[in-house]
Amino acid sequence: MNIVLENIAETDVTCSNCQACCCRMEVMIISDTGVPDKHISVDEWGGETMLRLDDGWCSAVDRDTYLCTIYENRPWICREFEMGSDECREEFNIIR
Ligand code: SF4
Ligand code: SF4
Repeated sequence: MNIVLENIAETDVTCSNCQACCCRMEVMIISDTGVPDKHISVDEWGGETMLRLDDGWCSAVDRDTYLCTIYENRPWICREFEMGSDECREEFNIIR
């Protein structure tokens, strides 16, 4: 039996067509989730953020797929950033 799905929310903003806009933001590391040292930038006061390369993206983004290469160990802030949220939409519109 096929179940007909109706009234599914559609969004024009999805990670699959976004090219990781939010991964160009500054991401503070505020808890230890196991981010590899090579992706961490430490400022003069010891504050840790995700390292961003010259192209502006977090160093952990796969440049071909725009997927996170450290997904299981991504920072807490990345886990909380919700697709379709106001913050997401703002980044999506800024980059486009
Ligand atoms: S969460 Fe939003 S800004 Fe981030 S990759 Fe997905 S659609 Fe883009
Ligand atoms: S850690 Fe992963 S999800 Fe977070 S900004 Fe970097 S690439 Fe994006």
